[in-house]
Amino acid sequence: MLDEMEKLVSLCKRRGFIFPSSEIYGGINGFWDYGPLGVELKRNLKEAWWRDHVQQRDDMVGLDCSIIMNPRVWEASGHVGGFSDPMVDCRATKERYRADQIFVFAYVLPAVNHKGEPTEAWLAGLGSTPEEAAVVPEKKAAKLAKRFGEPTGPPSVIPYLQLGPGDREKVIGPATDDRGTLTEPRSFNLMFKTFVGALETESSVAYLRPETAQGIFANFKNVLDTGRVKLPFGIAQIGKSFRNEINPRNFTFRSREFEQMEIEYFCRPEEAREWYAYWRTARFQWYVDLGLRSDRLRLRDHGPEELAFYSTATADIEYAFPFGTSELEGIAHRGDYDLKQHQKFSGKDLSYFDEERKERFVPHVVEPSAGADRATLAFLCEAYTEDQVGGEARTVLKFHRRIAPVKAAVLPLVKRDGMPEMAEAIYRELKRRQNVFYDEKGAIGRRYRRQDEAGTPFSITIDGQSLTDGTVTVRDRDSCRQWRVPAAGISRALDDLLEGEVGSGQ
Ligand code: ATP
Repeated sequence: MLDEMEKLVSLCKRRGFIFPSSEIYGGINGFWDYGPLGVELKRNLKEAWWRDHVQQRDDMVGLDCSIIMNPRVWEASGHVGGFSDPMVDCRATKERYRADQIFVFAYVLPAVNHKGEPTEAWLAGLGSTPEEAAVVPEKKAAKLAKRFGEPTGPPSVIPYLQLGPGDREKVIGPATDDRGTLTEPRSFNLMFKTFVGALETESSVAYLRPETAQGIFANFKNVLDTGRVKLPFGIAQIGKSFRNEINPRNFTFRSREFEQMEIEYFCRPEEAREWYAYWRTARFQWYVDLGLRSDRLRLRDHGPEELAFYSTATADIEYAFPFGTSELEGIAHRGDYDLKQHQKFSGKDLSYFDEERKERFVPHVVEPSAGADRATLAFLCEAYTEDQVGGEARTVLKFHRRIAPVKAAVLPLVKRDGMPEMAEAIYRELKRRQNVFYDEKGAIGRRYRRQDEAGTPFSITIDGQSLTDGTVTVRDRDSCRQWRVPAAGISRALDDLLEGEVGSGQ
C-alpha cells in the first residue's frame, strides 16, 4: 500500500502537480508547492466548492478575512490557551514526535540493564493508527533480537500516552536502537507566532491563523449589519491556515501551511440538529459527486468521549488513504459557543433579532470544515489507476471532468501536411472557453499516455481525414474509445462532453 503512495508522490513531482517547497535549498518540512497541473486541480476543487456552496445558494455569503488578526480573537476561541498537541523528543536522534501518534509494541525483548539484571525493552512505532505504527517495530523486532534476545511472544499495543513514567523507560524510540531516549510528553502550542510592527515585544505578538473559522465569527456582526441575510444563513471562506505541526507527514496530508474551505451555518437553536443532519449528508454527497465514489470514503460519527465540550454532535468525513484512514473534513454542531465567547471577549452584542417573532437570541452554528489540500490528495489517490490498453500498461488519473486540470488536448497526428495548422486553429478556438493543451511532439500513442497521466478527459486528434472531410477524432481517457465529430462545432461538442454524461468517463 505504501508503494502506491510512493508512486503517486513521484508522479506528482514528475508531472508537475506537487513539489517540495524551496526544493533547490533542500526543501522545508511541512511545506509544499503546487506546480502547473496541481494548481489547476486545486483551483478547480476550490471553485467547485465556492460555486456549489456560495454562488448557487440563496442562504450563503462569502468572506475573505486577513490571516493575522487581533490576538484577542485567539484568546476568545481558546487557541492561545489550548490549541496544543503533546510532544515527545528523542534525546538520541533529536527527532520530535506527536505523543498521541506513538504506539508502543510491547514485544517484551528480554533486555539486560547496566547491572546485568534482566529487564524489558519495548518497541515504539509511529502512526495515526496501530496498523500504521506497526511497520517499523515489526522489522526492528527481528533486527534487535540479536542484541536483546528473541521477543517473548506476540506484542500487545499500548498508546504511548497511556504508559506510566516507569514503563516509558523501557521504550525504544522509532528512530533509535536504545531504550529510554524518549522524553516525557510536553504540551506544544501549534500556532505560528510573529510580531506586528517594529518592536519585537510581548505586546506586539500576533499569530498566523490556525483556522479560517474565527474570522467568520469575528465578522458575524458586520455581515448581519449589511442587512442582506436572515436566519438560517451561512458564511463561507476559503483561505490559508497555518499550524506548526510537530510531525508533518504523509505528503501534503499534514502540512504546516494549508488551505481550508469552511462554512459557519447559523440558525435558530431549535433547528440546529436538523441543519447538522443536513450538512453531514450534503457534504458527504459533494465528495461522491466529484468522483470519490469508492468505498474508501466514509462518514464517522464521533462518540461521546471524542466530542469537544461545547459540541453536541460531530462527524468526520474520512478517506482510506494508502497510509491509513484519516479525516478530510469535520462537520460539527457547535451550539452558540463561538459567538458567546466572542461576545464575552469583545464586549460586543453578537445576538440576532428575529423580526417576525420579535425575539433576540444568539444563533447556533453548524460548521463543515474541510481542507483543500487533503481533498486534493484524496482526489489524486482515488484517480490514480494502472491499467492495460491494447496490451500496454499505462498510468491514468481518472479525475472527474469538473476538477481535471486540463480539459482536452489538441493533437495533430503528424507534424506536416497542414495538420498542425488545422490543430492550432482548433486549439485557439477551444482555449477561449476551456483550459486546453496543444502537443505536436512525438508518437501519438506517447502523447495519449502523457495526457492520461495528467488526467485530461479528452484528446482531439487532427489526421489526414480531417483535412478532407473536416472531422476530428475525440478520444475518451478512461475507455480509450474514439469517435469522429465535425471540427466546425468542436467547441460546443467539448462543452457538452464536459458537462454531460456523453462519452464513457465519469
Ligand atoms: P487533525 O486531527 O488531522 O490534526 P483536526 O481535527 O485538527 O485535524 P480541524 O481543526 O478540524 O482538523 O481542521 C479542519 C480541516 O482542516 C481538516 O479536516 C483538514 O482537512 C484540514 N487540516 C487541518 N490540519 C491540517 C494540516 N496540518 N494539513 C492539511 N490540512 C489540514
